[in-house]
Amino acid sequence: MIVKRLAVIGVGLIGGSFALALRQAGVVGSVVGIGRSRANLEDAIALGICDELSQDALKGVQGADMVFISVPVCSIPSVLAEIAPALAPGCIVTDGGSVKMAITKECEALMPPGCHFVGGHPIAGTEHSGAAASFATLYRGKRCILTPTESTDSAALETVARLWQLTGAEVCSMEPGHHDRIFAEISHLPHAVAYALVHAVGTADVEGENVLSYTAGGFRDFTRIASSDPVMWRDIALMNREALLSSIDGFSASLAELRRRIDCSDKIGLTEFFTTAKQFRDGIV
Ligand code: NAP
Repeated sequence: MIVKRLAVIGVGLIGGSFALALRQAGVVGSVVGIGRSRANLEDAIALGICDELSQDALKGVQGADMVFISVPVCSIPSVLAEIAPALAPGCIVTDGGSVKMAITKECEALMPPGCHFVGGHPIAGTEHSGAAASFATLYRGKRCILTPTESTDSAALETVARLWQLTGAEVCSMEPGHHDRIFAEISHLPHAVAYALVHAVGTADVEGENVLSYTAGGFRDFTRIASSDPVMWRDIALMNREALLSSIDGFSASLAELRRRIDCSDKIGLTEFFTTAKQFRDGIV
């Protein structure tokens, strides 16, 4: 038993899957699920994610030796501020938030003495939300990035890393700002582009036709992630604002260059552009 009592705040896809995977690994005693909606927490109990539920985070975390916070990123520091007075000595708090620099800075400052914060981000997910979307094998074979800083407790870091390994994830560490710049490019930009594309096509006026009724495989594949939770992505866009704006600028320049080559009927330039992109895409393992 690595964790006697695990509190999961935000029992959705990420938090629910974390608890399920650790239960399957047999390394947690009891799990308390904490959230706002009773219906979601009741689902979590019915699905075997947790044993107890609480709609009061301050009460729910009492006696926990580990707290996993998996709510939308802008709410992570405020949730921690709320529970901090009730954390047991030695408690480890970790999170699954998709943005790390601001969260790590704010959360480290909020931790009571004797308790430890370790930032984390599992690189796994689907476009579905809530307890019912979670499954024990979500993290198997996926990466989990931990973002320790100079003040991270090494034993707490080791425990969190061990838990993620037990979910089946491959753990690596990264500086929080570096994490945010990488994920602005590889995750936050694609979500922004998918949302913008669906927004543009959904509001396009082609002689009064509902253009979206003609969608086929390509459009659906490309835009699957625009079906993700809007609040979660609003928070990520705002919390990783600077890095995401820079990624959007890079993308806009690329799109402008593509537009220019189409406008000039530049056959060679277009072939080069598409070939370079295809080579990058085909090189992804
Ligand atoms: P989710 O399925 O929507 O789950 C979030 C849960 O948090 C919901 O069940 C919600 O339940 C609860 N919640 C929301 N605000 C809350 C608050 N202020 N206090 C307490 N509970 C709250 O979302 P998710 O996909 O698991 O994402 C959770 C975190 O993981 C986010 O920080 C996200 O950035 C990160 N993440 C997501 C993915 C992904 O692909 N989905 C991947 C990696 C990391 P109630 O509304 O009932 O409270």
